[in-house]
Formats: sequence, structure tokens, C-alpha cells
Amino acid sequence: MTEDFNSPGYDIPPEMEGQVAITTLDKVYNWSRRNSIWPMMFGLACCGIEMICAATSRFDFSRFGMEVMRPSPRQSDLMIVSGTVTKKMIPQIVRLYNQMPEPKYVLAMGACASGGGPFKEGYSVVDGVDKFIPVDVYVPGCPPTPQALLHGLITLQKKIDIQSIKNVRWYSKDPVEAIPIPVLGPDLMDPREYELIKDYTAEKQVEEEEVPVAEEA
Ligand code: SF4
Repeated sequence: MTEDFNSPGYDIPPEMEGQVAITTLDKVYNWSRRNSIWPMMFGLACCGIEMICAATSRFDFSRFGMEVMRPSPRQSDLMIVSGTVTKKMIPQIVRLYNQMPEPKYVLAMGACASGGGPFKEGYSVVDGVDKFIPVDVYVPGCPPTPQALLHGLITLQKKIDIQSIKNVRWYSKDPVEAIPIPVLGPDLMDPREYELIKDYTAEKQVEEEEVPVAEEA
């Protein structure tokens, strides 16, 4: 245990140092979670290769307790969105996110996951996964290096360090609603925008009806 683990203002007698700690429940809770973050094992595009590199011996994110990449969302704490998020893929990503148990975190790795990257405004690409699921950490780059990903993971650890059992969302009395799965049709539809889309369509219909139809020759 590090010195940080002890709460300041409590002197531990020298003969008991390393054996006794005076700390808070939040610190114990966060310390155990931050050092055992299990990422979900999936990659979407070229950034996925850099994520794989971060797990190999040269960079080795097992040093941070993150080596247990899980093939099931039920056992994962962290979704690393590593690559281009296409409109065809986002329903699956949201479904996987919903299937992860709390506490759960999302890291957007690279320009594509963060904002569409080089494909922004392309016909088939979502311009940022945060349009659909909440993102905790963004890692810039195209692709980000394994070192950049490690920095993002350490940033996530720092975020966990300052969370408190008193106000984290997974212990909130109000249940957290699952995110509606986007619908892929001719284009992508976010069910949360359904009312907006309905109003817009109705307005357009009225506008079109007001335009006089050209008489047939
Ligand atoms: S950010 Fe660059 S490297 Fe990463 S998936 Fe997009 S195009 Fe590929």
C-alpha cells in the first residue's frame, strides 16, 4: 500500500507502518476498482491494432491491472472504442454498453471514435461515439500510440480516484435507464430523438403540400 492510501492527519507509529492503515471507505473502494479495470475485448478498425500493442510485452497494460480483457460485456468494466464507428455498428455498440454492469466506463480511442476522424460527415460513419453513449476519456490521435492509450487509462484511474460512494450513479435511488438501441434503416435513427424527427417530418409534409403541383402538360 502506498502512503497515499493513508488519510492525512493520522500518525501511524513506526513499528506499525505497512501493517496498519487509517483511511476512508471511498479510498479502499476506488483503490480496488482502479487497479482491476477489465476492458472488453473488441476493436473496430486500425486503432484496435494499437490497442493490441498496448497489451503486449513492450507496453504491457497488465502493469495497471488491466490485462484481463473480457470477451463478454457482462464481465467488463471498460469499453475501449478503438476505431471508426459506423452507422451499421453503433446499434451493436450501444447494446454491448447496455449489457455491461455498473460501474462501467468508456474510453474513445482515436479521432474516429472521438469525432468521426477522417471520415467525419461520411455517409456511413457516426461523428463521435459520444452522440450515443457517455464517454469518460478521449484519447486523441490517428492512431493514438500505445503510450497515448496508456495515458488515457491512467487518466481514467485518476477519474476513479475522486469518485465517492455517496454520489456515484450506480448507487443512485433513481434507476439508470438503458440507452435505446439506435435503429438502422435508410439512415441511422436515434430513438431518443423520435419526437424531434416526428415534428420535423410533419413540418416538411405541410411545406410540401403547400407547394403548388405543376399542371401536367
Ligand atoms: S482514428 Fe485513424 S487510426 Fe484510428 S480508426 Fe480512425 S482512421 Fe484508423
